[in-house]
Amino acid sequence: MDLSVCAERHAINNMQYAETEATKLDVILIVGPVPDTDETVTTPCGACRHAIHQFSDNATVFCSNFVRQADGWTMFPTIERYTAEELYSHHRSHPTWE
Ligand SMILES: [Zn+2]
Repeated sequence: MDLSVCAERHAINNMQYAETEATKLDVILIVGPVPDTDETVTTPCGACRHAIHQFSDNATVFCSNFVRQADGWTMFPTIERYTAEELYSHHRSHPTWE
């Protein structure tokens, strides 16, 4: 993992910019390109699990991949469903912005 901003946190930032800082995430789809296999789905990194948990009321998190096949890309061959709490269950707290 590098130290860039993942798409999940970028999307949450845009959501808050377009709406208000009180806006909560309801559902998010995480999709990663994993050529040649659909055996495992892409799940959020630790920083994104924290952000999804912090800016939602236990959002639904769908995780999937694009898979490269002989005839092109298959979108979402496998989709797994999680909650923000399942992906980030042992957090201590979130900062307050008051
Ligand atoms: Zn991330």
